Amino acid sequence: MNKRLPICKQILGDLISYDVLGGQSNLTILDYIIGFLIERRIEYYLVPNDDCTKASLFCRIGPAADGGVILSGHTDVVPVAGQDWKTDPFILTEKDNKLYGRGSCDMKGFIACCLASADLFSKAGLKKPVYFAFSYDEEVGCLAGPALARAIKSHYPEKPSMAIIGEPSVMKVVTGHKGICVLKTTISGSAGHSSRIRQEVSAVHVAAGVIRWMEDKMEQLIADGRTDSRFMPPHTTIHAGMIQGGIAPNVIADKCTLYWDIRVIPRDNVREIIAEFQHWCSNYTAELQKKFNGASISTVEDHPPVVPLGTDDDAAVVRLVCKLTGESETETVAYAAEAGQFAEAGFQTVICGPGDIAQAHRADEFVDINQLDKCLAMMDKLCGYLSS
Ligand SMILES: [Zn+2]
Repeated sequence: MNKRLPICKQILGDLISYDVLGGQSNLTILDYIIGFLIERRIEYYLVPNDDCTKASLFCRIGPAADGGVILSGHTDVVPVAGQDWKTDPFILTEKDNKLYGRGSCDMKGFIACCLASADLFSKAGLKKPVYFAFSYDEEVGCLAGPALARAIKSHYPEKPSMAIIGEPSVMKVVTGHKGICVLKTTISGSAGHSSRIRQEVSAVHVAAGVIRWMEDKMEQLIADGRTDSRFMPPHTTIHAGMIQGGIAPNVIADKCTLYWDIRVIPRDNVREIIAEFQHWCSNYTAELQKKFNGASISTVEDHPPVVPLGTDDDAAVVRLVCKLTGESETETVAYAAEAGQFAEAGFQTVICGPGDIAQAHRADEFVDINQLDKCLAMMDKLCGYLSS
């Protein structure tokens, strides 16, 4: 077992005691991290939101030199409401070589490994620096990642070249995740007796047309060979998950709302798909308005789209993290994360962190102690790499 494991567990216990959910202020857990860094005289910087109720934090340990490595994680967790926990989710509980608590796996375990290695990095005489980058509101749409990545890039004259995002990957090296955009489409038509369906505009019928477009577009992308075999399924998906509209079988619906998402592979551009959709909608609306002038189809994004990650297998960061972890194969994951946002900012990026995503977001979330041990071993090797 790594000799920093006890301190790592202690820090993880502290981190888990802050019940900062996605969407909420993260200043309490941030204060804890700031206190930890101040004690060690590590200079840190904040990237606050508009009303300063939340902030991301970044810092650098080691020399002002190019080619450093960013270690990044999010400080927020998902809610526990309605989940049947056997232990207090905000008190770290050890049992059978597992550490239970909300965020133990996703992803305070990784942050604990980073902080527990701060002294190691400080005293190692690094030739290239390591950066810590901790965000907020990841669980509600990766909202803070882009500004954090850009801030690190613009703040230091010397540029880090790589980033490791410590989302739970069982310490496997993950080179890809899909992007995601969540949308809400509202359709307005004209109400009336169902017998007048040929004279009125049924918002429910229009919604059926809109869903048809989604399916056709997805099939067209596949038929055009726009696939990426690293992902499962290997193509972009477009899916309507919720539909609300209508008041009775014999009343033409004047309103219908669709909630849907687009999950893109790295080679597809979600902006282009949305633009094509909007173009189709405006043509369709013009047709509908011949029947009813007030007909409309309007679409808004739930939050800015999260960009996908698609790092080449032969990228230097992949070779490095494979060496640090002893892995020879790379993987992709089904969830979206901030990794694509760091890559977009210009850092070669992979995901690699302790714990299994299967244990995240559910009751009795845990991280295996062996996983923390593996992650600390990766930090040891990273320290060696940055010192050489
Ligand atoms: Zn996460």
